[in-house]
Amino acid sequence: MTTVQVPTIKLVIDGQFVESKTDQWRDVINPATQEVLAKVPFATAEEINAAVASAKNAFNTWRKTPIGTRARIFLKYQQLIRENMQELAALLTAEQGKTLADAEGDVFRGLEVVEHAASIGNLQLGELANNVANGVDTYTLLQPIGVCAGITPFNFPAMIPLWMFPMAIVTGNTFVLKPSEQDPMVTMRLVELALEAGIPAGVLNVIHGGPDAVNGICDHKDIKAVSFVGSTHVGTHVYNRSSLAGKRVQCMMGAKNHGIVMPDANKEQTLNAIAGAAFGAAGQRCMALPVIVLVGEAQSWLPELVAKAKTLKVNAGCQAGTDVGPVISKQALARITELIDSGVSEGATLDLDGRNPTVPGFENGNFVGPTLFSGVDTSMRIYQEEIFGPVLCVMHADNIEQAIELVNANPNGNGTAIFTRSGATARRFQEDIDVGQVGINVPIPVPVPMFSFTGSRASKLGDLGPYGKQVVQFYTQTKTVTARWFEEDEEVGALNTTISL
Ligand code: NAD
Repeated sequence: MTTVQVPTIKLVIDGQFVESKTDQWRDVINPATQEVLAKVPFATAEEINAAVASAKNAFNTWRKTPIGTRARIFLKYQQLIRENMQELAALLTAEQGKTLADAEGDVFRGLEVVEHAASIGNLQLGELANNVANGVDTYTLLQPIGVCAGITPFNFPAMIPLWMFPMAIVTGNTFVLKPSEQDPMVTMRLVELALEAGIPAGVLNVIHGGPDAVNGICDHKDIKAVSFVGSTHVGTHVYNRSSLAGKRVQCMMGAKNHGIVMPDANKEQTLNAIAGAAFGAAGQRCMALPVIVLVGEAQSWLPELVAKAKTLKVNAGCQAGTDVGPVISKQALARITELIDSGVSEGATLDLDGRNPTVPGFENGNFVGPTLFSGVDTSMRIYQEEIFGPVLCVMHADNIEQAIELVNANPNGNGTAIFTRSGATARRFQEDIDVGQVGINVPIPVPVPMFSFTGSRASKLGDLGPYGKQVVQFYTQTKTVTARWFEEDEEVGALNTTISL
C-alpha cells in the first residue's frame, strides 16, 4: 500500500520558503469532501522572532527604496494575479468552499487593492505651506513606520491579506503576515506571486499558527502596527493586547447586518439582492445580510422571499450552478445547526429549514441549506449572535423610524442596506444610521479601494480603516518639517532664530 504524502505549508522568512520545525500541525481540509489538502504548522517562538528580525533588517533598505520602484513591483504583481486568476480561484474554492465565481470575486477585490497600491505615487503625498514666517516653509513627510503585521480570517483568504500587505509594503514598511490557519493555501500562492513580482527578501514574511502566534505578534517589541480582520471577540483581544504594547492597531470585526425593505422598493430586484446577500458564500461574509426588516406593506413579501430562497442550489463550490457551498468546518456546521435549533426552541417561525440537506456526491460536506426564520425578536440568540451561515432572520417594522432604531440598537455596525425608490427615505437613512458601510439599493456595499473600509461600534476598533486614504495614514508617520534657508551673507539676530507664529 502506498501512502500519499500530504504537502506542508511553508513559512516565509527572509525571502525563503522554509519548513517549520514545530511539532504542532493542523490539517487544511476541503469542506466539501473532508479531503486533507495540506498540513499547516503552528510556528515556534524562534520562527516568529526570525520572521520579525528579517522584516526589521529589510526595513533599513526598503524604507529608502524610491516610491516609483515600489509602485512598479505592484504593477507587475497585479499582472501576475490576473494571469493566475483561475488557478487562485480553484485553490480558494478547494480549501474554503465558496463557489468558483465567488472565489474569483474574492481574488478580484484584493487585486483592486493591488492596483491601488501601484498608484502610490499619487497617494503618499505630504502637504506644504509656503512662507509660514519670513523665509520659512512648513511641510510634512509621510514616512513608513517599520515592521507591520497582519492577522486574517478564513472567509476571504485572498481579499483580506491583499487589503493589508500591498498597502503596508508600498508605503515603505516591511510585513509579517499570519493567515487563517483554516485556509492558508491561496494566501501562500499570492505571497509566492508577490515575491515573483519583485518584493525583496525580508520585506514580506509569513508565519502560521493560532492564538500563540497572534499573541506573539501583539507582544513583539519590534512590530510597530497590527492590522486584524476577524471576530469581535478575538479582535478586541488583539486591540487591547497590541495597544498595551504601544502599537498602532486597526481591527475590523464581527457583524449582524440589517437590510431594510421599504414597500416602495422594486420587489423583484430587492428579493434577488436579499437572496444573494443572505445566502451567498453560505452566509460567511462579514457584509452578508442575515437580518431583513420588512417595513409596512413590504411585510406581505415574506412568502415570495421564502420561495426565492428555496430555489437556491446547495452543492460543492467547484460544481457549475451552485449557489450555496459548504461552511468552513464541521465545528462551524455544528454551531450553525445548534443556533437554528435555538431559534426553533425560542419560538421563531422556521419558514425554511436548511438543516441536513442531501448533496449527492458530496455526502461528507459541511452543508447547510438556506434557512429562513420569521417572527424573530431581539431577545432571541439567532438575532443576537453572528451566525455566519446561510440563516436569514426576518423582522418587521411599521415605519423607517422604527427600522433605524432597531439597527442602531444592535451592538454591531459593520454594514447595512436600504431598498427603496424614495431619495428622501434613502437620504434620511444614510444620515441617521450608525453603521460603517451603507448600501442604497446595493446589498453588499464593500467600498472600492479609493475609499476605506470602515465600521461603527462593536464592528471596529482603531480609527483608521483598511486600504484607501486612511490606510496610508495608518501605515505612515507624519513628520512635520519647518525649514529656513539662509542666503550666504544673511545676518540673523539672536532674537530671530526661532519663529513665532
Ligand atoms: P477569528 O476571529 O476566529 O480568526 C481571525 C484570526 O484570529 C485568525 O488568523 C485566527 O488564527 C486568529 N485567532 C482565532 N482565535 C484566536 C484567539 N483565541 N486568540 C488569538 N488569535 C486567534 O475569525 P474567523 O472565524 O476566521 O472569521 C470570521 C469572523 O471575521 C466573523 O466574525 C466576521 O464577521 C469577521 N470578519 C470581519 C470583516 C470586517 O471587515 N469587519 C471581514 C471579514 C470577516
